[in-house]
Amino acid sequence: MNHEIHEQLKQLALKHSIPFCYSCYKEAPQGRCHDCGSDDLMRLLPGDGCEYGTDWIVKSILESELTAVDLDEEFEEYVRQCYPETTQVGWMSLDTVSVMKDQDPVSWRCAQSEWESQEADEGTIISFDNGASYYRLDEVESLTESEIG
Ligand SMILES: [Zn+2]
Repeated sequence: MNHEIHEQLKQLALKHSIPFCYSCYKEAPQGRCHDCGSDDLMRLLPGDGCEYGTDWIVKSILESELTAVDLDEEFEEYVRQCYPETTQVGWMSLDTVSVMKDQDPVSWRCAQSEWESQEADEGTIISFDNGASYYRLDEVESLTESEIG
């Protein structure tokens, strides 16, 4: 399934970009440069630049069309749903999440990274840059479906 979405995003990247001969500095929409005959072509993304490969185009499309998942916020929300909103400490009724983060930030971070890999394994969220940013799989799918069907 992930392989499929990668393939669809590649299609999307190809659709959004134009083959480009850097030596002649010309578009080569047929896939071979009309002037020098080269098929060693970059991809031109109008308004963004030109470069080899399609990963950078995928990144650019995702950044402009979707919002990356705010993992800190999502994890906090997840924990808030699992535990009571406040916790009694002595006579104080304190915000559970704030106490947890303040008292043991290391444990909090470990739990968050476990949760992140679990979400990624389940395919709820997906990264195209080795975990630097995540997108919701369903949003990525609607994007590719609306553009390439
Ligand atoms: Zn050329």
